Amino acid sequence: MSLVEYILRHYGEYGDVEDTLSLEAGVLVRTDGSPIYWHLPYTRSSVYLPDSQELWEVIWQNRQDVLGFAHSHPGSGLPRPSMEDLTTFRAVDTALGRPLLWWITSVDRVVELQKLDWKEKDLSYYLADHPQDQHIEQWLEELRKKSKYA
Ligand SMILES: [Zn+2]
Repeated sequence: MSLVEYILRHYGEYGDVEDTLSLEAGVLVRTDGSPIYWHLPYTRSSVYLPDSQELWEVIWQNRQDVLGFAHSHPGSGLPRPSMEDLTTFRAVDTALGRPLLWWITSVDRVVELQKLDWKEKDLSYYLADHPQDQHIEQWLEELRKKSKYA
């Protein structure tokens, strides 16, 4: 499966659920901690695959300056990456040739993941419970707002 197919599969699956309590949103983050690009699937009504392709294109265009990508999960508590998350992280890391930081936020917790030995093909990621403030402070609150948490 190609990298783009991984990404399309992952981000496509949340796209057409209009009336759920919270929807997945994401933000691409620059090395200085500022947001580069907000990925907001729920703002588009019909076709989702192009949006995900657009996300990948933005990642690629900014590959020199990207620190990582954050996305939200519904609910509260410690977020866990899905298998689709992990395969997507691995695919993007592999395509870029370096491991990004991958944050997942819930209503009240945020975790940071990064592949330790990213050249290994397995999906083991380091899970850090407390990301550095300078990595997350410029976008975390906004991402939670955009995720429409009740
Ligand atoms: Zn996820």
